[in-house]
Amino acid sequence: MTQPSDADARRAVKPVICYPNDTLPKPDLALYQAARDGATKIDEVIAPPREAACFRAAAGQFFRITSVEGPQVGDLNLWNANDLSERFYSGKSRALHGAHLTTGERMWSSFPHLRPMATITEDTLGWYGIDAYGGSVHDVIGTRCDPYTGNLLAGSQYHHCCHSNLTRALADELGVSLSEAEPHVHDVLNVFMCTGFTRDTGQYFMKSSPVRPGDYIEFFAEIDILGALSACPGGDCSSEHSSDTAACYPLKVEVFAPQAGALDEWQRPDVNGYDRSHGR
Ligand SMILES: [Zn+2]
Repeated sequence: MTQPSDADARRAVKPVICYPNDTLPKPDLALYQAARDGATKIDEVIAPPREAACFRAAAGQFFRITSVEGPQVGDLNLWNANDLSERFYSGKSRALHGAHLTTGERMWSSFPHLRPMATITEDTLGWYGIDAYGGSVHDVIGTRCDPYTGNLLAGSQYHHCCHSNLTRALADELGVSLSEAEPHVHDVLNVFMCTGFTRDTGQYFMKSSPVRPGDYIEFFAEIDILGALSACPGGDCSSEHSSDTAACYPLKVEVFAPQAGALDEWQRPDVNGYDRSHGR
């Protein structure tokens, strides 16, 4: 293949940011912090290694995911607890904030809602930044490890991928069959996972997570949340996933409720304002 004579000039064009986010509604982190200061713990669930667990956080409550016992990556799904068709939209959250999320950034919901479901209020791995390989933590790049891709690539039948873990946990939470629960499982926030794209081949990479026991990421629930968290079979994702090979540890989810009146100045986010007439 021959290059055009102006190939270098075309490559040298400077990129522009697809979605400048300076007009995004800003979360009032000081208000959230004041509400959090007086909050009390109301629930705790453990996602065991290679399993998932569901939790609920009402609008205005906080939920915290903590590494316990050893370095472990988690795959997080969020739904509107009152309408499962509104769920976390990984791709649009990536387009708005970048490939990895941290404090002050949001998990946005699917169309036609497109509103913040949860705001990250604390991230003890916020210091990590972007490393020399282009890697960073808490990605919205990856989908979730799943048995279908394993079967496609290796002919395997592995049942403790995050996709299946989330499916079983949601089925149990809702009291429905696996086949009813599975379509609700969606692309995740990869909590504590360290990922990026290789510069030479553009491939998705993972590397040993910098998370250590005691590290946590905490969220403010902007709407009533049903969440599911899978302790990925990849463990710290330093080598492989989709098998029982890696060392795996549990993840802890805690829910905190602020004092009455602490959020009087806060307004729940409305659904998106587009009129949905689509030009007709
Ligand atoms: Zn996984």
